[in-house]
Amino acid sequence: MTSTAGSGDAASPFLIRAADLVGCRFRLRQRFDHPDYPAPPDAVARQEQVEAGREAVLRALPAPGAGFARVDIAPGRDPEQAERATREAMGTGAHVITGGVLTGRVGGVDVVSEVDILVRVGRGRYAPVMVSNHRVARASTSGSARFVPTSRLGRGAPVETGARLRHHTVDGYRLALAHLLLGELADGRAGLVGQDRTRAYVLEPARFVPALLSALRVPVPEEPRRVKQCASCRFWPLCEPRLCELDEISLVLPGGRADGLRQRGIDTVQSLIDAHVGEPSDLARAWRAGIPVLKRTGAPSRVPRADVEIDIDMEAYLDQGAYLWGAYDGEVYRAFVTWQEVGGAAEEANFAAFWEWLMSTRSRARAEGRTFAAYCYAAGGENYWMKSSARRFGGVDEDEVAAFIASEEWVDVFAYVRRELVGTDGLGLKVLGPVVGYEWDDDGIDGERSVALRRAARLGDEEAREQLLRYNEGDCKATRAVRQFLAAGAPGVPLIGA
Ligand code: SF4
Repeated sequence: MTSTAGSGDAASPFLIRAADLVGCRFRLRQRFDHPDYPAPPDAVARQEQVEAGREAVLRALPAPGAGFARVDIAPGRDPEQAERATREAMGTGAHVITGGVLTGRVGGVDVVSEVDILVRVGRGRYAPVMVSNHRVARASTSGSARFVPTSRLGRGAPVETGARLRHHTVDGYRLALAHLLLGELADGRAGLVGQDRTRAYVLEPARFVPALLSALRVPVPEEPRRVKQCASCRFWPLCEPRLCELDEISLVLPGGRADGLRQRGIDTVQSLIDAHVGEPSDLARAWRAGIPVLKRTGAPSRVPRADVEIDIDMEAYLDQGAYLWGAYDGEVYRAFVTWQEVGGAAEEANFAAFWEWLMSTRSRARAEGRTFAAYCYAAGGENYWMKSSARRFGGVDEDEVAAFIASEEWVDVFAYVRRELVGTDGLGLKVLGPVVGYEWDDDGIDGERSVALRRAARLGDEEAREQLLRYNEGDCKATRAVRQFLAAGAPGVPLIGA
């Protein structure tokens, strides 16, 4: 493997971006060594989403004219040309500059900042404004934040609102980098536009500078290590063979899970097998033998059963809202879905219909003297959106939702799976599907892809709608299949340590 990139490497011909400083740092080396390596469709779809968000903000900016100067730097130029154009535009005192590029040396590293918008803030100083796909603020009755409407950037003053800002590391790095590269032209303030494209929240980028400088000091690793991100990384076809060649322990214990073992000199799968350190060594042996899951006990699961059992799965669009609540009762799959925009009346009506159906199913069971339970696989998302929907829309009683979530009638199957099984590649529903003999109708639709499908579905794409419904139905049925498999004592799964 060639060794060309490196933060802090004075001879490096590469420009480091803020996004290179979060997540897997080996990706930077791969990006430099294989700049044209193709991105997978999911990453392309994600990038399109980012671009669409940026376009929406740029369209909202004040139009030039009547003494208001706006300069749009043409995309696709090399960084040197683009930077020259950006600095020229600042030199002429443009009120707003879009698509700006700044380069320089920060913390001994050659860096580049692509600044979505530069806003002149008096005395020839500029504030960088970045567009993020994160939710950067939440409404709050106790907190306060300032924002400038994006339609008033360069023209209006900030206004106060009841909100709390949410921090995302990469957004902080982007703002801090642009702030530092502006040098004497920096105003000291910055703006961040999140999923609400109408507001640029005002921040002080200097507070993110220490973290940015620390991140720049971290050396770029010589070799890959498997992390969660690998599952969606375009370089996986390059990294996986290398990890196998190294017999890297992260193939079995990804992320930081092997840190303690590494300190003891155990850094390969084989050395982990030979170390006989209990469960990790058993897992390593299973991985080597191609066995995805082991069980901790031979006893059948104690996942609660009921006379009426409903398996539930929800789909949300980013963190903007939940658009699909699916429910399977063992015979019929029901989809409560809206293809309209989330966050408004359509989502409210859809959630209310789902909730009404769920509660009336429970009431009917009780009236007939039968027990009732609803199941879900890893309930974090469902719990969040049930609570959030009740809180945001008001049509459903928040207390009733909270009581249901806390009750024994709402069962998180994943909690039982974790207690009883251990997996060499995690215990996600998609990992367990083949183990329990469940097959989805569509291959390869994960959460990321579902976001892209949802966008197509919103635009009326019937095939995308059907695919999303099949995907959700599959997850509901797989949840049922997993708990039935557990109840049967996980047949065919070897016992750990056996
Ligand atoms: S595949 Fe994994 S190790 Fe390789 S660059 Fe991507 S995230 Fe990093």
